[in-house]
Amino acid sequence: MSLPPLVEPAADLTIDEVRRYSRHLIIPDVAMDGQKRLKNAKVLAVGAGGLGSPTLMYLAAAGVGTLGIAEFDTVDESNLQRQIIHGQSDVGRSKAESARDAVHEINPYVNVILHETRLDTSNVTEIFSRYDLIVDGTDNFATRYLVNDACVLLGKPYVWGSIYRFDGQASVFWAEHGPCYRCLYPEPPPPGMVPSCAEGGVLGVLCASIGSIQTTEAIKLLTGIGEPLVGRLMVYDALEMSYRSIKVRKDPECQLCGKNPSITELIDYEAFCGVVSDEAQQAAAGSTILATELKSWLDRGEPIELVDVREPAEWEIVRIPGARLIPKGELPAHLSELPQDRRVVLYCKSGVRSAEALATLKGAGFSSAVHVQGGVTAWATQVDKSLPVY
Ligand SMILES: [Zn+2]
Repeated sequence: MSLPPLVEPAADLTIDEVRRYSRHLIIPDVAMDGQKRLKNAKVLAVGAGGLGSPTLMYLAAAGVGTLGIAEFDTVDESNLQRQIIHGQSDVGRSKAESARDAVHEINPYVNVILHETRLDTSNVTEIFSRYDLIVDGTDNFATRYLVNDACVLLGKPYVWGSIYRFDGQASVFWAEHGPCYRCLYPEPPPPGMVPSCAEGGVLGVLCASIGSIQTTEAIKLLTGIGEPLVGRLMVYDALEMSYRSIKVRKDPECQLCGKNPSITELIDYEAFCGVVSDEAQQAAAGSTILATELKSWLDRGEPIELVDVREPAEWEIVRIPGARLIPKGELPAHLSELPQDRRVVLYCKSGVRSAEALATLKGAGFSSAVHVQGGVTAWATQVDKSLPVY
């Protein structure tokens, strides 16, 4: 299925632009017409992080005339392993401004518009409506569903990508011509089930592989060339070095883009995706301590059993002295090893997984168990600043 170009051609290219884009202009499928369409195109990148970096850089180099950047975060040292649009001297700067400067260094003819705000139901419609195409590089489910729903309700296509460790996925969602994200994933995963990149890690160069698919699809849609990735999901496995293309059908019962949609406006996405499950929230109520409290318990020699519920690779990076490691998924099988006569104290990286694990423990009768708010990150920032934060 080929689709007509998303964008009308600009009136003309300047002499400088003709020189700059000559390697595009001599490709018959792109040629002057396609390059003029790119010049006229307005593309919004949601996020200037792992996927936004290669996407913005290549869209800029390709000559997309207007690039929007929706990003509210600042550049952190731990971003540089994969977010190649930012450099060492950008640490601490606004990511949006850092990305804008990099784009202008690559191509001064690009008009960059910054949206330095967290996308939410109050601003997404106004921001998206200014663009022809959205490229989604977010790494959390709440924003992902927000982007999908806003695009479907506005009738806009968007290019989606996701990355985790060695695995990546990408697709083009355009309800008018194929499925939307909800056709593929009607419900978000249960809170705490799918770790984010911050929790699970990502091979930096994976961003280039998936960002490259996203950028390629964006250029194809804008110029109307080739077979767009509508109704297909690309699945990339870096360890096997394999790409698979899986057919994805529009779900006629889709709550958003189906025949009888029940979602006709934007919803509360934080509540829809949940930060922690109801069980975890209940378990943590009244059973949450601060890292500084844990420190004083340890200093006083309180009889506690300190359990780290993260994964072994995280344990190797940093741990709280005196802890033992039982990854969250293995906890149910190790309940009999936990002492009944001492208070069990759980921690993880940020306090989300430990709250989930706390629900498991409470359910098994460990009524005095508690977990540490902010996890080992709070410990490393409030108690022992010599430890690394990852
Ligand atoms: Zn749908």
